[in-house]
Amino acid sequence: MPKKTKLYISGSILGWLIIIFISAIWNLSQARNNQHDIYLESGRSLFDLIVTTREWNSRHGGVYVPITEDIQPNPYLDIANRDVTTTTGQELTLINPAFMTRLISQIAEENNNVVFHITSLNPIRPGNLPEDWEGIALKLFEEEANNEYHEYIQTEQSTYFRYMAPLITETACLACHEKQGYKLGEIRGGISITFPVKITTPWILIFSHVLIGLIGGLIIYWFGSKLSENIIDLERLSNVDGLTQISNRRYFDDYVNREFLNSRRNKNPLSIVICDIDNFKPFNDTYGHIEGDECLKKVALTMRTTIKRPTDLVARFGGEEFGFVLPNTNAEGALVIGNLLRDNIESLKIPHKASEVSNFVTISIGFITYKGEDISLKQLLDLVDNAMYKAKVAGKNKVVQDRIPEVTIYPMI
Ligand code: GH3
Ligand code: MG
Ligand code: MG
Repeated sequence: MPKKTKLYISGSILGWLIIIFISAIWNLSQARNNQHDIYLESGRSLFDLIVTTREWNSRHGGVYVPITEDIQPNPYLDIANRDVTTTTGQELTLINPAFMTRLISQIAEENNNVVFHITSLNPIRPGNLPEDWEGIALKLFEEEANNEYHEYIQTEQSTYFRYMAPLITETACLACHEKQGYKLGEIRGGISITFPVKITTPWILIFSHVLIGLIGGLIIYWFGSKLSENIIDLERLSNVDGLTQISNRRYFDDYVNREFLNSRRNKNPLSIVICDIDNFKPFNDTYGHIEGDECLKKVALTMRTTIKRPTDLVARFGGEEFGFVLPNTNAEGALVIGNLLRDNIESLKIPHKASEVSNFVTISIGFITYKGEDISLKQLLDLVDNAMYKAKVAGKNKVVQDRIPEVTIYPMI
C-alpha cells in the first residue's frame, strides 16, 4: 500500500475514532445529567410531599394521637390543651408539624432509608439545629441566593443524595411560630431530605461506542485498502499499453524525463534507443490487422526479454515503434543491446514476404548516449529519431548510433 494511502486511511480512522470519542463523552455526560435530574426531581417530590402533610397538620392546628411508649408529649410544644383525655379515659397528645415530620422520618428511614430533617437557624427544639451542610444551605436561602440546595455524599456503604429547600411561614404556622418573631412569607427554616442513590457507570453506552468505533475503523480500513488496490490497478493500467502489455508512451515520457535529469546531475551515461518495424504497413496489407497485432505482441515480448537490468525500460512508443531507456549504459553497451534486439527480432522468423529487406519481420534501430551535455531532452529524442531514420535510409534492419554534436565556443581575440 503506498505511503500516502496509508496516511489517508490512518487519518480517516483517527478522525472516526475522535468522532466516536466525542460522541461517547457527550452521551456519558447526558446520561449523568439525566440520572442527576431524576434524583433532583425525587428530592423535590419528597420535599413537596412532606410540606403537604405538614400543611394538613397545621391547618387542623395539630393532630391528637394516643400517648404511647414511643410517642410522648412534646416538651417544646408550649400551648394549652397539649395533652387531653378522652371521655373514655384515653390519653392523647397534640402532634404539631415539626414533631410529625420527625415521626414520619423515623418510619421512612426504617422502610426506605430516607431521612427527613427539619431544621432552623433559630429552632424551638435544640435538636433541630442545622448540621454544617444544612447551615450553609439555610444561609443561602436567607440571602435569597438559592431556593434549593443539593449534593451527593459518599459513605463506606452507599452514595446518598441530599436535597434541601426552605420552609416559608404561612398563616397556619404563625399560631406557634409568631412568638419566635417570624412573619408571613419569611423563611423560618428548611427540610433536608437524604436518600440512597446508585451512581451507575453506563457500561452499555461505553461498550456500544467501543464496538461502533472498532467496526467503523475496520470498515474504513477495509474500504481504504480495496480503494487503494483499485487505484494501484488503475495507475498500472494507465501506464501499460493495452495490446502489448508493456509500458506505454505516457510512462516512457515520465521515465525518460526522470533519468535524463538524473544523468544531467550525475553525469552517468544514459542511452536511449528507438526501434521501428520495417515495412509494417505492407505486413498489415498482406497478412491483415489481426496478424499485425499478433506480430506487435511477439516483438514487444522479445524486446522485453532482451533487456535484463531492472532499471532498463521498454515502452511502446507509437504504432509500431518502441523506445528504450537504458540508465547507466554507455554507447558500447547500447550498441550491444541494439544488435541483440535486431538479431532477436529477426530470429523470431515471423514471415514477412512483403518486406524489402528480409523474408522475416525486422526492425531498424537508432540510439544515442547522453552524458550530461547541455542539450534538452527534446533535442536528444529528436537525435535518436534521426538515428533511426538513418537506419531506414541505410537499408533498414540496421543499428545506427547518432552523436550529440560538439559545440566549442572560442573566446574573442
Ligand atoms: P518503414 O519500414 O519505413 O517503417 O515502413 P512502415 O510501413 O513500417 O512505416 P509506416 O509508418 O508507413 O507504417 C506504420 C504502420 O504500422 C501503419 C499501420 O498500419 C501500422 N500500425 C500502427 N499501429 C498498429 C497497430 O496497433 N496494429 C497494427 N496491426 N498495425 C499498426
Ligand atoms: Mg513507424
Ligand atoms: Mg515501420
